[in-house]
Amino acid sequence: MALWEGTLKKMRVRHETPVAYELVDAFDKERHPLALNDLLGKRIRLKASGSIRCIHCGQPTRKSFGEGSCYDCFRRLPQNDICILKPELCHFHKEDDPCRDPEWGRNHCFQPHFLYVALSSGAKVGITRQVNIPTRWMDQGAHAAIPVARVADRFTVGKLEHHLAQSFSDRTQWQRMLKNLRPEIDLEAQVETVIADFPEEYREAILDERPLYTFDYPSLRWPEKVKSINLEKVSVAEGELIALKGQYLLLDSGVVNIRKHSGFQAALEVL
Ligand SMILES: [Zn+2]
Repeated sequence: MALWEGTLKKMRVRHETPVAYELVDAFDKERHPLALNDLLGKRIRLKASGSIRCIHCGQPTRKSFGEGSCYDCFRRLPQNDICILKPELCHFHKEDDPCRDPEWGRNHCFQPHFLYVALSSGAKVGITRQVNIPTRWMDQGAHAAIPVARVADRFTVGKLEHHLAQSFSDRTQWQRMLKNLRPEIDLEAQVETVIADFPEEYREAILDERPLYTFDYPSLRWPEKVKSINLEKVSVAEGELIALKGQYLLLDSGVVNIRKHSGFQAALEVL
């Protein structure tokens, strides 16, 4: 008997010690969330049925584009546009290439954004909207994060991040992150170094109070080697659940990126 059955999407995280993880259904978040921390140390089987539904329009799709879109939604929706990955490419004001959905753009991009420094596989800079603090950092598997500046909109903060990314990493090395190799970096000192690289016009965006957020992840142990399990290829992931970090289930047989499998119909059982 499956303990949980539904359509996968990004796991729900809560900032507790350790971080609390729930498996939720893409179409009905309240239906039957499954508390995953309770399953640590148990042998589980996550089985994909083979069918995939677009998490935006609900239509069946043979393949998932981006994270759980059908091809049409991938091409059509603003959240799948290139400027979401690269905010400095925002084209909202371009007459010949306007925003895919200006109202969505106003609600998501023309809202205050934060530039932060986080520690996961190493120190990195990144940007996020206020509503995604602090879940964004848990989704990345960060151990600590400090918001550094508050900027009026996504395009402006994107240009700042683009500038800083010439000197500081804006990436997470996911395999290092999953091995839980914690770099010896003084995050507060790192923030000072990043601030020193701010262009003049961004100085007034720097926050007076810069709180330090810290995160611990549920684990029994961490893998020495990281083997990724792709449910599109093997359909079943099975093994002892040894940890949860970022958007990954860490099994003793390999790791599954749940977010990447958004839209996959799946069932989880305890063996
Ligand atoms: Zn769709």
